[in-house]
Amino acid sequence: LKVVALAGGTGSAKLLRGLASLDLELTVIANVGDNIWVHGLYVCPDIDTALYTLAGVANRTHGWGVEGDTFNTLRQLRELGQETWFALGDKDLATHLMRTRALREGKTLTEATREACAARQLRARILPATDSELETRILTPEREMNLQEFWVRKGGRPRVNGVKYVGAEEARLTGDVEGAIGQADAVVVCPANPISSIGPMLAIPGMREALASARAKTSAVSPMVGARPFSGPAAKLMRASGTSPDSVGVAGLYVDFLDAIIIDKRDRRMAEEINRLGVRCHLFDTEMTSSAAERRLAKELLES
Ligand code: GDP
Repeated sequence: LKVVALAGGTGSAKLLRGLASLDLELTVIANVGDNIWVHGLYVCPDIDTALYTLAGVANRTHGWGVEGDTFNTLRQLRELGQETWFALGDKDLATHLMRTRALREGKTLTEATREACAARQLRARILPATDSELETRILTPEREMNLQEFWVRKGGRPRVNGVKYVGAEEARLTGDVEGAIGQADAVVVCPANPISSIGPMLAIPGMREALASARAKTSAVSPMVGARPFSGPAAKLMRASGTSPDSVGVAGLYVDFLDAIIIDKRDRRMAEEINRLGVRCHLFDTEMTSSAAERRLAKELLES
């Protein structure tokens, strides 16, 4: 079974682990809107979360970075007066060094990511949604900023007036992404921030059409329970984008290509409204607190 999974960060990682534990051929399409240059290195948080998760080295407590990493370089940078609000571990740095070198040699992000996957002998494929520059910018009353700056540096505190995807209109889907979606037996949208993780991928011209015209059914897991996400700024960003911050809102954002969505059992009252949108709504325990729960949800999703 060829499964394609659209993925963001922490919530997606849990479902990816569940999917990878099943007998299937997994291709991850990763968000690139959060990518950021730090100390001259190109950091791709969502690609790396997928990479570390599928390689079995992810730090599960933080939801980012490598398990058991040290921070000697970061400490040294701080002592030398550099900005260190974006924490990079010593092992993590190796990934960014390899990627940045590959890009400097003229390789695409797709090629650099393929090399990173090969170096870790991954069975799954990870594809950046695009090789074009695409950045999610958060509009705050003070100024606009990169998502990492908003969430990591400012702790998600600034008021949000809107979100924009800079470069989206000129961005192009890669042949690998189009091919993977076209050949998939199932497409899944992982639980992820619908505005800052899935939104940038859907803003690439042709992505929604590729998903809608795929022969495979597309199903999603909602990242929300009631009016709250399990983690992160999803509710704040959904509200700022004029979307109701709940599973009905999530289904609405994906309605043109989504066949089914799994929402949390506690949101039973929303099922009818989602079904009315033309999206089959399934109720399940969507909180993934163990490997067993991750696997159960992955299985349920493929059967939905
Ligand atoms: P973030 O909003 O910047 O953290 O971006 P991510 O794409 O990394 O978002 C993580 C999303 O995953 C959040 O919207 C969470 O609500 C969601 N999430 C985290 N853990 C779980 C979980 O166990 N189950 C589900 N369904 N969603 C989760």
